Amino acid sequence: MLRIDLHTHSSCSDGTDAPAELLAAGADAGLDVLGLTDHDTCEGWVEAQAAVKDTGVALVRGVEMSCSAEGITVHLLGLLPDPTSSRLVATLEKSRVSRKTRAKAMVERLEEDFPITWEDVRSHAPENGPVGRPHIADALVKAGSFADRAAAFRGALHPSGPYYVHHWAPDPVEAVEILLEAGGVPVLAHPKARARQRLLPDETIAAMAEAGLFGIERDHRDHTVEDRRAVEELARQLGLALFGSSDYHGFGKPNRLGENLTSPEVLNEVEARGSIEVVRP
Ligand code: AMP
Ligand code: FE
Ligand code: FE
Ligand code: ZN
Repeated sequence: MLRIDLHTHSSCSDGTDAPAELLAAGADAGLDVLGLTDHDTCEGWVEAQAAVKDTGVALVRGVEMSCSAEGITVHLLGLLPDPTSSRLVATLEKSRVSRKTRAKAMVERLEEDFPITWEDVRSHAPENGPVGRPHIADALVKAGSFADRAAAFRGALHPSGPYYVHHWAPDPVEAVEILLEAGGVPVLAHPKARARQRLLPDETIAAMAEAGLFGIERDHRDHTVEDRRAVEELARQLGLALFGSSDYHGFGKPNRLGENLTSPEVLNEVEARGSIEVVRP
């Protein structure tokens, strides 16, 4: 049985392993296929591709697009898209620019109560990459204000707290269209991860399916047994393929590579639909 984990992050977004280290960690975890899906960037692809031969781990190149449905954050995986597609490039760029403005605005608020500066946050974020709350969390941890990223997320970085600021992100239905236009395969990430914030209504997921959404994550550590059952039922109704993944972030989160997997049949279908190839050793 092939071990396929299609949703992971590198230090090009908010993971802690460089892309080559991520592939090596994939080999250590016994993975056959790994998907690199950094938030709002394809920056890590080249380094990851170069590590395929040495590690023997096949690479699915992807991205996790930040989306916003009337204030509700939605994460949409795009597997095997053409990275030169102009609408995709422009959308990812716009998200990254807005993320930077937003992170600066959050730091301005946080500075009043915590000993951190924009320079501290910037030093934890990838150069020209997407800046997110994980990097602000790193600065808060370094300053001694919180024990780890998770504590910072429960505290100062919580969406209902006074320091939170929204950023621009495309509507999820539009993001499905953008990914399809790029020949990518759209997959809704962790739709029932309720600890994060308000959940996306099933009607919006149905609208995404109508627009051409291919799959949905069922097996994810932020989903309870009941959540998984609900996703399975929704997928059956809407004709969506089921995915499972680790959503690994290195030591930034407890998620371990290969803790949830996607089936070879679903990967075959992804490869048949994608506009670029799976990079094989
Ligand atoms: P942002 O997109 O900047 O609002 O930040 C959300 C990101 O933070 C997500 O992509 C997660 O990977 C990460 N995240 C959310 N909760 C936690 C947590 N408890 N610990 C570490 N990272 C988290
Ligand atoms: Fe993340
Ligand atoms: Fe996500
Ligand atoms: Zn993710």
